Amino acid sequence: MAKKQFKTESKKLLDMMINSIYTHKEIFLRELISNASDAIDKRYFRSLTDPKAALSGGEYEIRIAADKTSRILMIFDNGCGMTKEELDSNLGTIAKSGSFDFKSENGDGQDGADKIDIIGQFGVGFYSAFMVSSEITVETRAIDSDEAYRWRSSGADGYTVDTCAKADVGTTITLRLKENTEDENYDEFLDEWRIKELVKKYSDYIRYPIRMSVTKSRKKAGSPDDKPEYESYVEDETLNSMVPLWKRPKGEVSDEEYATFYREKFFDYEPPLKVIRQKTEGVSNYEALLFIPSHAPYDYYSTEYEKGLKLYSSGVLIMDKCKDLLPDHFGFVAGLVDSADLSLNISREMLQHDRQLKSIAKAIEKKIGSELSKMLENERENYEKFYKAFGRQLMFGVYSDFGAHKDSLKDLILFVSSNEKKNVTLKEYVSRMKEDQKKIYYAAGDSVEQISLLPQVEAVTSHGYEVLYLTEDIDEFALQILREYDEKEFSNVCQDDLDLSTDEEKESLKAENEKNADMFAFIKESIGGDVHAVRFTNTLKNHPACISSEGPVSVGMEKTLSRMPGFEEGGIKAELVLEISMTHPIADKLKALFETDKDRLSKYSKILYAQARLISGMELKNAAEIGSLVCELMVE
Ligand code: ADP
Repeated sequence: MAKKQFKTESKKLLDMMINSIYTHKEIFLRELISNASDAIDKRYFRSLTDPKAALSGGEYEIRIAADKTSRILMIFDNGCGMTKEELDSNLGTIAKSGSFDFKSENGDGQDGADKIDIIGQFGVGFYSAFMVSSEITVETRAIDSDEAYRWRSSGADGYTVDTCAKADVGTTITLRLKENTEDENYDEFLDEWRIKELVKKYSDYIRYPIRMSVTKSRKKAGSPDDKPEYESYVEDETLNSMVPLWKRPKGEVSDEEYATFYREKFFDYEPPLKVIRQKTEGVSNYEALLFIPSHAPYDYYSTEYEKGLKLYSSGVLIMDKCKDLLPDHFGFVAGLVDSADLSLNISREMLQHDRQLKSIAKAIEKKIGSELSKMLENERENYEKFYKAFGRQLMFGVYSDFGAHKDSLKDLILFVSSNEKKNVTLKEYVSRMKEDQKKIYYAAGDSVEQISLLPQVEAVTSHGYEVLYLTEDIDEFALQILREYDEKEFSNVCQDDLDLSTDEEKESLKAENEKNADMFAFIKESIGGDVHAVRFTNTLKNHPACISSEGPVSVGMEKTLSRMPGFEEGGIKAELVLEISMTHPIADKLKALFETDKDRLSKYSKILYAQARLISGMELKNAAEIGSLVCELMVE
């Protein structure tokens, strides 16, 4: 019989498994049991509509048997089994879960420890059995098949598939355990107590009985009480309690158990940041077990990512990712919902319109919101960690659907502020606003450093006002949708009239601007078409000039919009204003040049404008021209 080769990635993984020095080899049993349980789920689910799939007798179960003499460990299930094609495609190729992609990205070229860690954290399903086995045989018969097939492999050199005799539908996996080495004792996986311990540790909640024949001893019938004799006998024992984690009382589940469950079911390599449980009885009956991940999955901010919760109906998985259970802004939440109200064979289309499901989704959204605000209040450090990973998502949530969710999210968003450059909530900002402060000030830019150096920011903070620093594209759009917080309007320090001066100061500025209108027209002309207006300002402290904007589109928004498809070329523009500090010595210089040397004024104007653009974080379209202008003035 011809040997078939594993697909390339599978081979790589197999090599890792076979030569693994990973110390938690024990997880292989969990993986095989979990596959068996999934297979029974599938068969059960199908049996609801297809009588052919139903059990002809007995009950669904997973069995384990060990034989020390032959070093054989067997795992049986009466699940759905596999067809010949399925055997080939499922066990010849590694399951295309995110885990392997991650591995090849991060594992290659790095040292072994890194890879090994990843093995343990994700678990890699069936292949993990090669960590402990020198040969694996899978005998399986699918629901519709009259024939059974045997898959066999001793590792990386390939596998064979042939027919075999198997009376019942289901799968039997036979592991020939590796010989012990100096460092590794594979025998332990044949010990009754060790198997029991592993099932309890990793697979206790599996909803089908995991049974094993165990040897027990009892007092021999008829032997005298004062001198008892004992005999051994064999009895079936169920090793797991079969209660799903989410059905157990809250206090009885340890953090460790939640973490293991989360890692295994949701393929994360880190424990969750927060576990949320919700149980509701009344209008809708359901239990939810939710997890807030401690970091964003690698594909989170891409179109690849699919949000959703696992959906169970009385303990039976009916959908792996029910997206209708989560609003987009909480799309990072992982977990499951188990409800007795949902019918088992409800179709996807029906689910979408299911009222029960809608009311569950609503309650879950509320619960997540309230848990997040509790975390913000009581566990600030954790919340900041959470926010680092998913804050952008919340900010999108404020903005999206025309602000439909802004009220429930506005107290969950954070901004870095000029005050110690730390994160603040809008509530915190407002609570420490100065008495005479009417607006919530913000400035947008590429980084906290760049924003903190903006001339306008300096002007506002020198009045003792706090400024929010907006570093993400979405931030400013979100504030535009919010419009106000606690009846305080948001004000872009680079765009809006800051209203920081007295009436007297305003008057003198106005007069000065009118007086120099011709000069400003000349400067505007010299700079070229870019600038909408040039004028004096009296708010800057040390800087000679700055760029601000008029109208509805700010500089930051223009930048964001220009990156969006369809807007690239000049569609939406901020109306730029070059503001020159009235009190800076440059003001007098410009005025003098306007009288005496227009040619030089023109050059100065260009340089002043270029400088202001750079400070605002904008690019220079005429960098070469400015460079030679500066040089020309330097050599004079
Ligand atoms: P995963 O379980 O993550 O999909 P595995 O490598 O563990 O990856 O298994 C690959 C596939 O082989 C499974 O998705 C399943 O279709 C099939 N499989 C494994 N074990 C069994 C089993 N005991 N019964 C039926 N199918 C199985």
